[in-house]
Amino acid sequence: MLAILQRIIQEVSQANDIERALAIIVKRVKEAMKVDVCSAYLSNESQHRHILMASDGLNPQSIGRAGLVFGQGLVSLVAERAETVNLESAPDHPRYHFVPGTDEQNYCAFLGVPIIHHRKVLGVLVVQQRARRRFKEDENAFLMTVAAQLAGAIAHAEVSGGIAKLVSNVSEGVSLKGLPGSPGVGIGTGLVIYPPADLDAVPDRQVEDVETEVEVFREAVALAQDDIRDLQTRLSTALSKEDQALFDAYLQMLGSASMIEQVIGRIRAGSWASGALRETINEHVRVFESMDDPYMRERSADVKDLGRRILRCLQKDRQAPPPYPERTVLVGDEITATMLAEAPIDRLVGVISAKGSSSSHVAILSRALGIPAVVGVKELPVVRMEGQSLIADGYNGRVYVAPSENVRKEYQRLAAEEAQMTADLAELRDEPAQTPDGFRIPLYANTGLLSDITPSLLSGAEGIGLYRTEFPFMVRDRFPTEDEQFHIYSQVMEAFAPKPVVLRTLDVGGDKSLPYFPIKEENPFLGWRGIRITLDHPELFLVQVRAMLRAADSLDRLSILLPMISSISELDESLKLIQQAYHELLEDGEAVAKPRVGAMIEVPSLVYQIEAVAKRVDFISVGTNDLTQYLLAVDRNNGSVAELYDSLSPAVILAIKLVVEGAARHYCPVSICGEMAGDPRAVLVLLALGVDSLSMSASSLLRIKWVIRQFERAKAQQLLGTVLTMESAKEIRQYLGNALVEAGLGGLVRAGNK
Ligand code: PEP
Ligand code: MG
Repeated sequence: MLAILQRIIQEVSQANDIERALAIIVKRVKEAMKVDVCSAYLSNESQHRHILMASDGLNPQSIGRAGLVFGQGLVSLVAERAETVNLESAPDHPRYHFVPGTDEQNYCAFLGVPIIHHRKVLGVLVVQQRARRRFKEDENAFLMTVAAQLAGAIAHAEVSGGIAKLVSNVSEGVSLKGLPGSPGVGIGTGLVIYPPADLDAVPDRQVEDVETEVEVFREAVALAQDDIRDLQTRLSTALSKEDQALFDAYLQMLGSASMIEQVIGRIRAGSWASGALRETINEHVRVFESMDDPYMRERSADVKDLGRRILRCLQKDRQAPPPYPERTVLVGDEITATMLAEAPIDRLVGVISAKGSSSSHVAILSRALGIPAVVGVKELPVVRMEGQSLIADGYNGRVYVAPSENVRKEYQRLAAEEAQMTADLAELRDEPAQTPDGFRIPLYANTGLLSDITPSLLSGAEGIGLYRTEFPFMVRDRFPTEDEQFHIYSQVMEAFAPKPVVLRTLDVGGDKSLPYFPIKEENPFLGWRGIRITLDHPELFLVQVRAMLRAADSLDRLSILLPMISSISELDESLKLIQQAYHELLEDGEAVAKPRVGAMIEVPSLVYQIEAVAKRVDFISVGTNDLTQYLLAVDRNNGSVAELYDSLSPAVILAIKLVVEGAARHYCPVSICGEMAGDPRAVLVLLALGVDSLSMSASSLLRIKWVIRQFERAKAQQLLGTVLTMESAKEIRQYLGNALVEAGLGGLVRAGNK
C-alpha cells in the first residue's frame, strides 16, 4: 500500500494542473481499492457547490458539470461533518441525493472521506461499488491516508495551476497570501533569482534572437556530451561493461533528436534555452515516472540528471543575472541572506520569497535594509514571475501579480502615505527616546552589513546593539582572516564613534550556513549552532575575538555578545577564551582595552538560570527571535506553523519578566535585540517591564521612538497589568493594538500587520 501511495503522491506533485492531478488520483485509487467508482469533488465557495472534478466510473460527460449544492447529498454530509461516511447502501440514507447524468443510480456501497488542508475542507473523495457492502476499516484508512496526503498537493495544484493559467494570460490581477517579512509596499518588476544547476528553479524568460539561442543550446549539448565521454573514459577501468552502459544511455539520450528538437522547438517559440530545457526535461520525466515498469520509472532520475548537466553547461558563461530592472522586486523560492546582499540595493523595491517566515534571516535583512518583503508565499509560481508587474505588501504579507489599475493606485497611495510618515518621523532623529513621564530608554540598531550602517546612522540610533558578524562571513568563499575581520569591525566602530557597539561572535548553523563550511543535520536549530560551533573551534573564536579587541579603540565602547548560550559551562568557557585572547594581545604589545561581555538569552534553559548568568556578565541581551522559537517549539522559518509563532505569547512575556527581575537582582542591564524590540505593540510591554535598552532594525527605530515619546510609562505599566492576565497572543496583540490606536498612533498598526 505504501508503494502505491508514494507513487500516487509523486505523480500528483508533478501534475501541471488540478484536473490532471485529480484524474490521476481517481484512476489510481480505483485500481488500488478494486472498486467500481472513485470520484473527487471539490468544494467551490463562490458557486456554493461541491463540483464533480474527476471520476473513474461515473459518466465522463458529467465531470466538471455535475455537482451538489452545499448541504445537499452525502458528499455534503462528509464535508459538513469533516469525517468519513461509510454506507452499505447509499440510496437508503435520508441524505442521499441522486445527481442526474452521473449514472450514480447503479451503485450501492458508498465511502466518502473529506480532503482537508489546514483545517479547511477542500473537497470529498468518494469510492462506490455496485454491490451492497460496508467498506472495511483498512479500506477506510487507506482512503483517508490518500486524502490527507493529497490535500496539500491538491491545494498547491489548485492555486498554482490556477495562477499559472492566469499569469500566462494576464488581464486581471492575482493575489497570493504569504507572511509579512518587512513592512512597507514595494511596487515594481519581478526578477527571479535562483541557485545554479537547479532545473526546477529556472524562470521563464523570453528571447528575441532565437537563432543565437538555438546555437547556444547546441553548444551546451555538445559540451555535455564531451563531459560524459570524459567521465566514461576516466571510469572505464573502474566500472564493469554493464555499468558503463549507463553512459552510453546518456549519450544516446543526448543524441536523441526528439528531446533536442523539442527544446529547440520551444526556443523557436520564444523561450530562452534554460526555460525550454526545463519544460522538455520535466515532460520526459513525467512520462518515465508514470510507467508501470519499475526499471523504466527509475530512468526518470537519469533524465533529470542529464537536464542538470546541460543546464550547467548553459550556465557556464551566463551566470550573471539579467540587468536588474529600475524597480526590482526580487523573487525566489528561497532567497538567502547572501542573494539579498549581492543585489544592487538601490534598485530593490521589494522581496518575495516562497519560503521563510517573518523571523527568518531574509526577513531580518530586508527590514535592516528597509525593503518591503513578503515571505512564506507557499503557492508562488516562482518560475513565472520574471518580468511580471508585482506588488509586495509587506504589512499584510500579500503579493499582487499583474495588479489591476485600481489595486495599483490604492497601493501607490499607501506608499506615498508611508513615505510621508517616514519623512515626518525623520524629525525625531535627534530627539531623545523618552516617555512623557521622563523614562529614558536608549534605542540601538541591529546591523550586519556595511551597507546598512548608513541607514542606521540616519535613523538616529544611539549605537549598535547587535552586529551580526556572520553576514560578512557568508559573503566570502572561506573564513575571513583576522586582518580582514579587523578591517570590517574597525569600519563599524569608526562609523559609529563615539557611540557604543555590540559585536556578536559568529552565530552560524540553524538557517545561517556558510557555503564553505556546510553542516548537514536533521534538526539544525537544535544542533550545532552559535557558540557550540565556536567553542568546538577555539581557533575560529580566538581569531574573531582578537580582531574585535584590536578594532576597538581605547575608549571602552566595544561589547562582545555571545549567541546561543544554553548552559553556564558554555558561558564560563567563552569568558575564559575571551580572557585568553585579551592577554595574548597584551603580550603581543597591542594596546587593547578589556571589553564588556554579554550573553544572549535565546534558549529557555537560561531563563531559569538567569541569576547565574547575571553574576558573570556585564549585560544581558534577549534574542526574542530564538527565545520565541524555542519556548513555543515553533520553527521560525516554517511557514506552515508561522501562525503559531508570536513573541507576544504570554509565555514569552513571562520569560522576559523573569529575565528582567533576575538580572536586576545583580544590577545587570537587560537589552532586547530580537525583532520584538521593533514591534510597536511589544514595545509597550517591554517599556513597562523595565528593560534597559532596545536594539532593532534601523527601519523600525523612528517608529518605536515615536511610540515611546507619546506613551507614558505609567500607562504602559497599567496595560501590562491587564496583559499579564491574558492567556493568548491574539488577545494581547489586539489589546495593545487598540491602545496604540487610542493614543493616536494608529498609523503604526495600520494595514493590520499581524
Ligand atoms: C534572536 O534570536 O532574537 C537574535 C537577535 O538572533 P538572530 O535573529 O540572529 O538569531
Ligand atoms: Mg538568535
